[in-house]
Amino acid sequence: MLEIIRIPVLKDNYVWLLHSGMTVAVVDPAVEGPVVAELDRTGRRLTHILNTHHHNDHVGANLALKARYGCKIVGPLADRDRIPGIDLALAEGDAITLGDATAKVFDVPGHTRGHIAFWFADEKALFCGDTLFALGCGRLFEGTPDQMWNSLLKLRAMPDETLVCCAHEYTQSNARFAVTADPGNTRLAARAAEIDAMRAKGEATVPSLLGVEKATNPFLRADDPALAAAYGLAGRDPVTVFAAIRAAKDRF
Ligand code: ZN
Ligand code: FE
Repeated sequence: MLEIIRIPVLKDNYVWLLHSGMTVAVVDPAVEGPVVAELDRTGRRLTHILNTHHHNDHVGANLALKARYGCKIVGPLADRDRIPGIDLALAEGDAITLGDATAKVFDVPGHTRGHIAFWFADEKALFCGDTLFALGCGRLFEGTPDQMWNSLLKLRAMPDETLVCCAHEYTQSNARFAVTADPGNTRLAARAAEIDAMRAKGEATVPSLLGVEKATNPFLRADDPALAAAYGLAGRDPVTVFAAIRAAKDRF
C-alpha cells in the first residue's frame, strides 16, 4: 500500500508525498514550508527524499529538510555531485524500498544528464520528474533528442494504468501545442477541451494515466506515421521526428 499526496508549490511545481508503512518520503521537494505543513497536518516525520534530478525547483529544500528530520536523500548516480546532501546514489537496475512498496529506478537522461525515474510497478505509480509531462516532455537542457526519445520509450513500455506523477502543472500550455503537432488526433482534441474545463475550475490535471499519454502526448508518438507526416518527415526515423516536435515546442 502506497499513499500518494500531491503538494502544489511555487507557481506550477508538484511535490509528491509518499507514505507506506513507517516510511514517509517526498519526491523533488522544491521548497520546505508546504512540505513541513503537510507533514505537520498528519503528524508525520520525513524519512526519505527522492530526487529525480538536480534542478533547484526539485532539490531546493533538501538540506533544510535533512537538517529538520535527519531524512535520507536518494538521487541519481550520474549527477551525485549536483544533488545537495545525497546519501544514496541510484542508477538503472537499482531498486528502493519504502515501507512495503518498492520502486525500480530507470535512467532517463535528456532534460538533464543524470535524471532518474522511480516506478512502483505493483502500485502502478511513476515519478518521472521533468522527463514526461501530461501532454509534454522536459526541455533538452543537457541531453540530445536521441537520449530523450530513448528515455521516453522506457516509460512508454510501462502499463497503461500507470499513474504519471510528474513535477509540473504544464498541461494546459502543453495541450495548446499538442493539438498543432497532432491535428488529426480526436482523442487529443477531446482531452485538450477537458483540460481547459479542469483548469477553468482550478483543478489539477496531474497525475494522468500513462495509457492516455500514449494515445495523446505527441512526444510519446514520434514513431506514429501521423506525427511524421505532420512535420513533413514521412518515413523518417522516430528520433528525427521527435527532434522536430521538440524544436517546434521550443519555438511555440
Ligand atoms: Zn528540471
Ligand atoms: Fe522542474
